[in-house]
Amino acid sequence: MSDITSWSAHQISTALAAGEVSSVEVTKAYLDRIDATDAVLGSFLARSSNALEVAKASDDARASGIVSSPLAGVPVAIKDVLCTTDMVTTAGSRILEGWVPPYDATVVSKLRAAGMVALGKTNMDEFAMGSSTEHSAYQVTKNPWDTTRAPGGSGGGSAAAVAARQAPVAIGSDTGGSIRQPAAFTGSVGVKPTYGGVSRYGVIALASSLDQVGPVARTVHDAALVHDVIAGYDSHDSTSIPTPWPSMSDAAETGARADDLSGVRFGVVKQLIGEGISASVRQRFDEAIELITSNGGEVVEIDAPHCEYAVAAYYLILPAEASSNLAKFDSVRFGLRVTPEGNPTVEDVMAATRDQGFGDEVKRRIILGTYALSAGYYDAYYGSAQKVRTLIQRDFAQAFEKVDVLISPCAPTTAFPLGSKLEDPLAMWAGDLTTIPVNLAGIPGMSIPMGLAPDDGLPVGLQLMAPAYQDARLYEAGATLERLFTQRDGTMLSMNTPEVN
Ligand code: GLN
Repeated sequence: MSDITSWSAHQISTALAAGEVSSVEVTKAYLDRIDATDAVLGSFLARSSNALEVAKASDDARASGIVSSPLAGVPVAIKDVLCTTDMVTTAGSRILEGWVPPYDATVVSKLRAAGMVALGKTNMDEFAMGSSTEHSAYQVTKNPWDTTRAPGGSGGGSAAAVAARQAPVAIGSDTGGSIRQPAAFTGSVGVKPTYGGVSRYGVIALASSLDQVGPVARTVHDAALVHDVIAGYDSHDSTSIPTPWPSMSDAAETGARADDLSGVRFGVVKQLIGEGISASVRQRFDEAIELITSNGGEVVEIDAPHCEYAVAAYYLILPAEASSNLAKFDSVRFGLRVTPEGNPTVEDVMAATRDQGFGDEVKRRIILGTYALSAGYYDAYYGSAQKVRTLIQRDFAQAFEKVDVLISPCAPTTAFPLGSKLEDPLAMWAGDLTTIPVNLAGIPGMSIPMGLAPDDGLPVGLQLMAPAYQDARLYEAGATLERLFTQRDGTMLSMNTPEVN
């Protein structure tokens, strides 16, 4: 039997169904793999203490004829921003060190109900603010393709875990690119569903008008299987969409079977391929366009003029909402409490706790956000940013009158060296230019690998975008493209991460 950790989640699912392997064996293989590699990679902040018991329960259920979902018995890693009653949940912050939530996030409950086996909680930038995972208060996560490089962020732990075969699939959250950009940097598949498609109940909020939870996987089909498990209405989340979703895995299977891309109209967003995009990323993107057109797809240029202002608008809206969401970390209800010497007032305790509990990036954004929301500046900053957001939404709505799917590079560069942007917040923020418009518009976005960069040999991600509610379209087109890239390159890049040592 080949190494189980080299299988896709779909292959594991098939082998489990055929009785060729047990969930205990699969889970053990992943736990061993984590043991062997995580000292180098640092993907996990916490490990499950009962994964093998859960796996055993899944095997027993199967033996008695109960199979709760296609992913029953399949392991999963969970970003540390989702509440779990059986594991510490810190969101990468000191202020929540040691905190065990009193309830599971709805997504976590759904994973459990589907019979999946949680392996642990993955590292992330503190409160999901960042693009490299270096803002984690706990550890640095390495990119499995080159351990001197960042895995992307904020969900670098989930993406590194999937790429390095420490988990077949993982859960991430995406407010401005935190699922897609790490997927691009690690040669994985990452999806940000339509805003409201997946419940955020029990997900520690960053910017509530932008946050979405979604899958990280090594194949489009695997991402679809996870998407099917976690999507759906939740009365605990007031932004949750009440309509039922079509099967994403059916869409992925349809896409994988399609002969070619004929009849699919792709739009290239002019504003997302220009300034800031590296020459090697651009080269792979141009080759992807060639692949699309030579396989029957139509490609047209799309003008989305307001995307140019997306980063500026986002870095006002996000800090504004984050400053409000993070007000609850006040030393009273959750986690850390620092009591200064002498006779401190309640305010002294709160100030000392927040000073010691939050890292620099979080403080920077709280200050920016508080300023942007302050009386006298509200209209000029937050108000203007919201207007830009509306204009971006209109740009996308107009674009989707002409095309089915929009495409762009998922990130302007490949994975950058660890430490290279840490002292330069603006450079770090500017790298989000391709992913942010998708969150501002509330539409679904996917990153799939489109080859290795000619200069540094690191993975390059292709971003696909669809109208709101049309997530299935991403899976269909994504699966066809994934097959075409695999045929072109003679190998499926996401399944062939180099060995970590
Ligand atoms: N890099 C973006 C930021 O720092 C994205 C964050 C996210 O999606 N959680 O805000």
